[in-house]
Amino acid sequence: STRSFLQLVVTSFAEGDTLLFIRDVSDRVRTEQMRRDFVGNVSHELRTPLTVISGYLDTILADTHLLPVPYVKALQQMSGQANRMELLLKDLLWLSRIETAERKEKSEWVDMGRLLGELQQEIGNLYPDNPLKLSVQCQDRVKGDYRELYSAVSNLVLNAYKYSPDGSEVFASWRKQGEDYRLDIRDRGIGIDASHFSRLTERFYRVDDSRSSTTGGTGLGLAIVKHVAAGHGAQLKIDSRLGEGSTFSLIFPEQG
Ligand code: ADP
Repeated sequence: STRSFLQLVVTSFAEGDTLLFIRDVSDRVRTEQMRRDFVGNVSHELRTPLTVISGYLDTILADTHLLPVPYVKALQQMSGQANRMELLLKDLLWLSRIETAERKEKSEWVDMGRLLGELQQEIGNLYPDNPLKLSVQCQDRVKGDYRELYSAVSNLVLNAYKYSPDGSEVFASWRKQGEDYRLDIRDRGIGIDASHFSRLTERFYRVDDSRSSTTGGTGLGLAIVKHVAAGHGAQLKIDSRLGEGSTFSLIFPEQG
Protein backbone atom coordinates (compact mmCIF):
# COMPACT_ATOMS: atom_id res chain seq x y z
CA SER A 1 0.00 0.00 0.00
CA THR A 2 1.04 3.60 -0.33
CA ARG A 3 -0.06 4.61 3.15
CA SER A 4 2.35 6.95 4.87
CA PHE A 5 3.48 6.71 8.47
CA LEU A 6 4.29 9.97 10.15
CA GLN A 7 5.85 10.54 13.53
CA LEU A 8 5.29 13.70 15.52
CA VAL A 9 8.38 14.73 17.47
CA VAL A 10 8.14 17.31 20.27
CA THR A 11 11.32 18.80 21.71
CA SER A 12 11.28 21.33 24.56
CA PHE A 13 14.22 23.60 25.27
CA ALA A 14 15.25 25.07 28.60
CA GLU A 15 14.55 28.58 27.30
CA GLY A 16 10.91 27.63 27.02
CA ASP A 17 10.85 27.17 23.27
CA THR A 18 9.23 24.12 21.81
CA LEU A 19 10.14 22.59 18.50
CA LEU A 20 7.62 20.44 16.71
CA PHE A 21 8.43 18.47 13.64
CA ILE A 22 6.92 15.70 11.63
CA ARG A 23 9.09 12.88 10.44
CA ASP A 24 8.21 10.48 7.66
CA VAL A 25 8.93 6.98 8.99
CA SER A 26 7.09 5.14 6.20
CA ASP A 27 10.19 3.32 4.98
CA ARG A 28 11.05 1.99 8.38
CA VAL A 29 7.50 0.85 9.06
CA ARG A 30 7.22 -0.81 5.65
CA THR A 31 10.57 -2.64 6.00
CA GLU A 32 9.48 -3.88 9.42
CA GLN A 33 6.16 -5.06 7.98
CA MET A 34 7.95 -6.87 5.16
CA ARG A 35 10.30 -8.59 7.58
CA ARG A 36 7.36 -9.72 9.68
CA ASP A 37 5.39 -10.99 6.70
CA PHE A 38 8.44 -12.76 5.33
CA VAL A 39 9.16 -14.60 8.58
CA GLY A 40 5.48 -15.50 8.87
CA ASN A 41 5.26 -16.79 5.32
CA VAL A 42 8.48 -18.79 5.47
CA SER A 43 7.44 -20.41 8.75
CA HIS A 44 4.10 -21.27 7.27
CA GLU A 45 5.61 -22.75 4.09
CA LEU A 46 8.17 -24.82 5.98
CA ARG A 47 5.56 -26.44 8.14
CA THR A 48 4.00 -28.67 5.50
CA PRO A 49 7.19 -30.40 4.29
CA LEU A 50 8.30 -30.82 7.88
CA THR A 51 5.00 -32.47 8.78
CA VAL A 52 5.55 -34.95 5.93
CA ILE A 53 9.10 -35.72 7.10
CA SER A 54 7.97 -36.20 10.71
CA GLY A 55 5.10 -38.38 9.58
CA TYR A 56 7.38 -40.74 7.65
CA LEU A 57 9.88 -40.84 10.50
CA ASP A 58 7.13 -41.78 12.94
CA THR A 59 5.93 -44.53 10.61
CA ILE A 60 9.41 -45.99 10.22
CA LEU A 61 10.16 -45.74 13.93
CA ALA A 62 6.91 -47.48 14.84
CA ASP A 63 8.44 -50.77 13.69
CA THR A 64 12.22 -50.96 13.71
CA HIS A 65 12.93 -54.65 14.23
CA LEU A 66 14.17 -55.15 10.66
CA LEU A 67 16.50 -52.13 10.75
CA PRO A 68 20.17 -52.14 11.75
CA VAL A 69 20.73 -50.47 15.12
CA PRO A 70 22.83 -47.54 13.81
CA TYR A 71 20.01 -46.66 11.41
CA VAL A 72 17.49 -46.67 14.21
CA LYS A 73 19.70 -44.35 16.25
CA ALA A 74 20.09 -41.97 13.32
CA LEU A 75 16.37 -41.99 12.63
CA GLN A 76 15.63 -41.25 16.27
CA GLN A 77 18.00 -38.28 16.17
CA MET A 78 16.30 -37.03 13.02
CA SER A 79 12.91 -37.39 14.60
CA GLY A 80 14.02 -35.46 17.70
CA GLN A 81 15.42 -32.64 15.58
CA ALA A 82 12.29 -32.56 13.41
CA ASN A 83 10.22 -32.11 16.58
CA ARG A 84 12.44 -29.25 17.65
CA MET A 85 11.99 -27.61 14.28
CA GLU A 86 8.24 -27.98 14.54
CA LEU A 87 8.24 -26.19 17.90
CA LEU A 88 10.44 -23.47 16.50
CA LEU A 89 8.17 -22.86 13.51
CA LYS A 90 5.13 -22.86 15.75
CA ASP A 91 6.69 -20.16 17.95
CA LEU A 92 7.88 -18.12 14.96
CA LEU A 93 4.41 -18.20 13.45
CA TRP A 94 2.81 -17.27 16.76
CA LEU A 95 5.28 -14.42 17.24
CA SER A 96 4.51 -12.96 13.82
CA ARG A 97 0.76 -13.21 14.53
CA ILE A 98 1.19 -11.36 17.82
CA GLU A 99 3.32 -8.67 16.18
CA THR A 100 0.63 -8.16 13.56
CA ALA A 101 -2.10 -7.94 16.20
CA GLU A 102 -0.03 -5.67 18.42
CA ARG A 103 -1.59 -2.43 17.25
CA LYS A 104 -5.15 -3.67 17.24
CA GLU A 105 -7.45 -2.61 20.06
CA LYS A 106 -8.09 -5.50 22.44
CA SER A 107 -11.77 -5.98 23.17
CA GLU A 108 -12.16 -8.99 25.49
CA TRP A 109 -12.05 -8.78 29.28
CA VAL A 110 -9.63 -11.33 30.62
CA ASP A 111 -10.03 -12.81 34.07
CA MET A 112 -6.43 -13.24 35.21
CA GLY A 113 -7.43 -15.39 38.18
CA ARG A 114 -9.10 -17.86 35.85
CA LEU A 115 -6.14 -17.80 33.46
CA LEU A 116 -3.73 -18.56 36.30
CA GLY A 117 -5.99 -21.36 37.52
CA GLU A 118 -5.99 -22.94 34.09
CA LEU A 119 -2.23 -22.63 33.86
CA GLN A 120 -1.86 -24.17 37.31
CA GLN A 121 -3.75 -27.21 36.04
CA GLU A 122 -1.55 -27.52 32.99
CA ILE A 123 1.56 -27.27 35.16
CA GLY A 124 0.07 -29.91 37.43
CA ASN A 125 0.13 -32.34 34.51
CA LEU A 126 3.74 -31.53 33.67
CA TYR A 127 5.07 -31.35 37.23
CA PRO A 128 2.67 -33.42 39.35
CA ASP A 129 4.99 -33.28 42.39
CA ASN A 130 5.65 -29.57 42.22
CA PRO A 131 2.47 -27.53 41.74
CA LEU A 132 2.49 -23.84 40.85
CA LYS A 133 1.95 -21.75 44.01
CA LEU A 134 -0.85 -19.33 43.26
CA SER A 135 -1.95 -16.14 44.97
CA VAL A 136 -4.85 -14.26 43.38
CA GLN A 137 -5.46 -11.12 45.45
CA CYS A 138 -7.67 -9.22 43.09
CA GLN A 139 -10.69 -10.12 40.99
CA ASP A 140 -10.39 -7.30 38.48
CA ARG A 141 -10.09 -8.19 34.82
CA VAL A 142 -7.90 -6.64 32.16
CA LYS A 143 -8.75 -5.71 28.62
CA GLY A 144 -6.91 -8.08 26.36
CA ASP A 145 -6.63 -11.23 24.33
CA TYR A 146 -6.92 -14.42 26.36
CA ARG A 147 -4.81 -16.62 24.08
CA GLU A 148 -2.03 -14.07 23.84
CA LEU A 149 -1.95 -13.45 27.57
CA TYR A 150 -2.07 -17.17 28.29
CA SER A 151 0.91 -17.80 26.02
CA ALA A 152 2.90 -14.97 27.63
CA VAL A 153 2.20 -16.07 31.20
CA SER A 154 2.77 -19.73 30.41
CA ASN A 155 6.13 -18.91 28.80
CA LEU A 156 7.17 -17.11 31.99
CA VAL A 157 5.99 -19.95 34.22
CA LEU A 158 7.57 -22.67 32.08
CA ASN A 159 10.86 -20.74 32.10
CA ALA A 160 10.66 -20.51 35.89
CA TYR A 161 10.45 -24.31 36.04
CA LYS A 162 13.07 -24.87 33.31
CA TYR A 163 15.68 -22.67 34.92
CA SER A 164 15.24 -23.95 38.48
CA PRO A 165 16.50 -27.14 40.10
CA ASP A 166 13.99 -30.00 40.18
CA GLY A 167 11.35 -29.55 42.85
CA SER A 168 12.13 -25.88 43.46
CA GLU A 169 9.01 -23.74 44.11
CA VAL A 170 7.48 -21.38 41.57
CA PHE A 171 5.05 -18.63 42.61
CA ALA A 172 2.50 -16.69 40.60
CA SER A 173 0.56 -13.74 41.94
CA TRP A 174 -2.02 -11.28 40.64
CA ARG A 175 -2.74 -8.13 42.62
CA LYS A 176 -3.55 -4.46 42.48
CA GLN A 177 -0.69 -2.07 43.11
CA GLY A 178 -1.84 1.53 43.38
CA GLU A 179 -3.63 2.23 40.13
CA ASP A 180 -1.82 -0.59 38.32
CA TYR A 181 -2.29 -4.34 38.21
CA ARG A 182 0.66 -6.57 38.72
CA LEU A 183 1.36 -10.16 37.74
CA ASP A 184 4.51 -11.70 39.23
CA ILE A 185 6.13 -14.99 38.31
CA ARG A 186 8.83 -15.76 40.81
CA ASP A 187 11.31 -18.62 41.04
CA ARG A 188 14.26 -19.61 43.20
CA GLY A 189 16.22 -20.91 40.28
CA ILE A 190 19.59 -20.21 38.71
CA GLY A 191 18.91 -16.49 38.20
CA ILE A 192 20.36 -14.14 35.59
CA ASP A 193 23.16 -11.62 35.85
CA ALA A 194 21.93 -8.04 35.35
CA SER A 195 24.26 -7.57 32.38
CA HIS A 196 21.89 -9.74 30.31
CA PHE A 197 18.62 -7.98 31.20
CA SER A 198 18.56 -5.57 28.26
CA ARG A 199 18.96 -8.34 25.68
CA LEU A 200 16.82 -11.12 27.17
CA THR A 201 13.74 -10.35 25.09
CA GLU A 202 15.60 -10.43 21.76
CA ARG A 203 14.73 -13.30 19.49
CA PHE A 204 17.05 -16.28 20.08
CA TYR A 205 19.05 -14.53 22.77
CA ARG A 206 20.26 -16.95 25.43
CA VAL A 207 22.24 -16.33 28.56
CA ASP A 208 24.26 -19.47 28.09
CA ASP A 209 23.94 -21.54 24.94
CA SER A 210 25.24 -24.78 26.36
CA ARG A 211 22.80 -24.50 29.24
CA SER A 212 19.81 -23.75 27.07
CA SER A 213 20.36 -26.42 24.44
CA THR A 214 19.47 -29.10 26.97
CA THR A 215 16.32 -27.34 28.13
CA GLY A 216 14.80 -27.56 24.68
CA GLY A 217 13.42 -24.03 24.46
CA THR A 218 13.20 -22.17 21.17
CA GLY A 219 14.77 -18.91 22.36
CA LEU A 220 11.58 -17.07 21.38
CA GLY A 221 9.69 -17.24 24.67
CA LEU A 222 10.62 -13.84 26.07
CA ALA A 223 10.30 -12.18 22.65
CA ILE A 224 6.69 -13.44 22.63
CA VAL A 225 6.17 -12.10 26.17
CA LYS A 226 7.56 -8.70 25.19
CA HIS A 227 5.23 -8.31 22.20
CA VAL A 228 2.19 -9.50 24.12
CA ALA A 229 3.00 -6.98 26.84
CA ALA A 230 3.41 -4.17 24.28
CA GLY A 231 0.09 -5.08 22.65
CA HIS A 232 -1.61 -4.76 26.05
CA GLY A 233 0.06 -1.53 27.10
CA ALA A 234 1.77 -3.52 29.85
CA GLN A 235 5.32 -3.24 31.07
CA LEU A 236 7.62 -6.26 31.39
CA LYS A 237 9.94 -6.02 34.40
CA ILE A 238 12.82 -8.35 35.09
CA ASP A 239 14.32 -8.68 38.52
CA SER A 240 16.89 -11.40 39.03
CA ARG A 241 20.03 -12.35 40.87
CA LEU A 242 22.47 -14.98 39.76
CA GLY A 243 22.15 -18.04 41.96
CA GLU A 244 19.12 -16.72 43.84
CA GLY A 245 16.22 -16.63 41.42
CA SER A 246 14.15 -14.39 39.20
CA THR A 247 10.92 -12.45 39.16
CA PHE A 248 9.32 -11.55 35.84
CA SER A 249 6.45 -9.08 36.17
CA LEU A 250 3.77 -7.80 33.84
CA ILE A 251 2.43 -4.46 35.00
CA PHE A 252 -0.88 -3.37 33.49
CA PRO A 253 -2.03 0.24 33.63
CA GLU A 254 -5.34 1.21 35.18
CA GLN A 255 -8.14 -0.35 33.10
CA GLY A 256 -10.69 2.11 31.77
P1 ADP B 1 14.47 -20.15 25.89
O1 ADP B 1 13.71 -20.92 24.90
O2 ADP B 1 15.96 -20.28 25.73
O3 ADP B 1 14.01 -20.39 27.30
P2 ADP B 1 13.45 -17.44 26.30
O4 ADP B 1 13.30 -16.32 25.34
O5 ADP B 1 12.23 -17.92 26.98
O6 ADP B 1 14.18 -18.61 25.51
O7 ADP B 1 14.51 -17.00 27.39
C1 ADP B 1 15.74 -16.43 27.00
C2 ADP B 1 16.85 -16.77 27.98
O8 ADP B 1 16.62 -16.10 29.23
C3 ADP B 1 16.92 -18.24 28.33
O9 ADP B 1 17.70 -18.96 27.40
C4 ADP B 1 17.54 -18.23 29.72
O10 ADP B 1 18.95 -18.16 29.59
C5 ADP B 1 17.06 -16.91 30.32
N1 ADP B 1 15.90 -17.10 31.24
C6 ADP B 1 14.59 -16.92 30.93
N2 ADP B 1 13.81 -17.13 32.02
C7 ADP B 1 14.64 -17.44 33.04
C8 ADP B 1 14.46 -17.74 34.44
N3 ADP B 1 13.23 -17.78 35.01
N4 ADP B 1 15.56 -17.99 35.18
C9 ADP B 1 16.80 -17.95 34.64
N5 ADP B 1 17.05 -17.67 33.33
C10 ADP B 1 15.99 -17.42 32.53
